Amino acid sequence: MKLSCTGCGRTYPARIILYRCPECDALLELIHPEKTFSRKHAWKGTGVWRYAPLLPTKPLVTLGEGNTGLHLCENLGIPPVHVKHEGENPTGSFKDRGMTVGIAWAKKLGATTVACASTGNTAASLAAYAARARMRAIVLIPSGNVAMGKIAQALVHGAKVIQVDGNFDDAMRLVQQTDAYLLNSINPFRLEGQKTLAFEVCEALGRAPDTLVLPMGNAGNISAIWKGFKEWKAAGLISKLPKMIGVQAAGANPIVRTLRGRKKSCRVSRPETVATAIRIGAPINWTKAIAAIRESGGDAVTVTDREILSAQKLLAEKEGLFVEPASAAPIAHLRKKKRRGLVVCVATGHGLKDPEVILRGKPKFVTIRPDLKSLQRVL
Ligand SMILES: [Zn+2]
Repeated sequence: MKLSCTGCGRTYPARIILYRCPECDALLELIHPEKTFSRKHAWKGTGVWRYAPLLPTKPLVTLGEGNTGLHLCENLGIPPVHVKHEGENPTGSFKDRGMTVGIAWAKKLGATTVACASTGNTAASLAAYAARARMRAIVLIPSGNVAMGKIAQALVHGAKVIQVDGNFDDAMRLVQQTDAYLLNSINPFRLEGQKTLAFEVCEALGRAPDTLVLPMGNAGNISAIWKGFKEWKAAGLISKLPKMIGVQAAGANPIVRTLRGRKKSCRVSRPETVATAIRIGAPINWTKAIAAIRESGGDAVTVTDREILSAQKLLAEKEGLFVEPASAAPIAHLRKKKRRGLVVCVATGHGLKDPEVILRGKPKFVTIRPDLKSLQRVL
């Protein structure tokens, strides 16, 4: 097992704490020995650790992550689509898949303090897993624009929550200068856990989907899941790979711009969107994300806040799935562009994370006197 540079290809021992290549500054990814994939494994149990033979460590810290529902949705006014609801994870987002592996690796390294910059979901997940592992957790969040549910989660688990008077990108820049073990998606061990979503989808469908659509913020998830599909194929368990479609909000779409404009950088200076989970202007993993999109023949696309909120409402009212705004972005995209074949959307986080977005404005319920006549009048 080695860390491999996605830029120059140099390799480093996995046990050295590195987030970027010391030679060329590119991102790193974990490479398993080829023999890992040379035979079929007897997968045991459910969830992330079912795939332990393809993960870098044993399940040292777990809250029962993964094994989320793959819901067939046929009432959205678009061709049937499967929604993988990652809000069903222990802290309500896909981050738990990565955090169980990242924290286990931190424990192996003997780390006592872990940290992240976060728009909220990573903070919640890090706080919970650090509590479970009896580690100190530090989270840096941008001022304003973090959903209250996520802050409550980080606080209740006892993390040191620090609000940075800036945006997510400022928080990310700062946290990288601390001595704590970093558990943002720049950490390749976290992405190892997140790749298990691909394994679950393939097992549930008996094949890979034709297209996988997911929101992109810091953009680690798209490359993690793409790595998962490639490893499942290398293991001989599927024959075809899906197209990877990353969705960004119109006010925070640096990857879409870079992909279209063939720029060498990836930045939007003042990211704005109601979908706070993807309100990121300088995604750390943009090179990996663009590689996944290009290799898979996929695309990066934009949806507006209005389209996101409309899709969120539709999923909740027609399918019983309550997801946070960012998680509705893939459905918002599919309502604009028809995609053929078997399509899976990833809903990254639970709607309860951000109830304010629903309750904003006039509450849509009535108050009555406690008598039957009053009740009958409003029914
Ligand atoms: Zn390098």
